[in-house]
Amino acid sequence: MTKPATPFTPTVDADGTPTVCRCCGRHAIGIGRGTKADPGFLCRKCITIVEDLSKMDRLDVYELAALDAGVDAVGAYLSEIGKTDLAECDELDARMIVKAAWLGCAEGLRRALNEAPF
Ligand SMILES: [Zn+2]
Repeated sequence: MTKPATPFTPTVDADGTPTVCRCCGRHAIGIGRGTKADPGFLCRKCITIVEDLSKMDRLDVYELAALDAGVDAVGAYLSEIGKTDLAECDELDARMIVKAAWLGCAEGLRRALNEAPF
């Protein structure tokens, strides 16, 4: 058994209902690129790059691109609110930082998969 490309598995619940997107972890709908163990359901946004998802089997490069994009997104958000000390952040700021990281990683992953030369 190979390690899942992203930590967002399983993408289906016990009843067969889609839960989370295999690529980015957002709400999944009933289309996916699956394996024997999991249907690999995707969200609406990631379905648009479904042809590129076969590249996720070789994830190291894409994970790094996703993490870099997440770091950039958090940096951009912190610059936007003018804070660098997390102790100064309230609950909303903390949630928005995590949101920036999550969406930044997802967008970075989609972008890296889309730009891969194979
Ligand atoms: Zn997605």
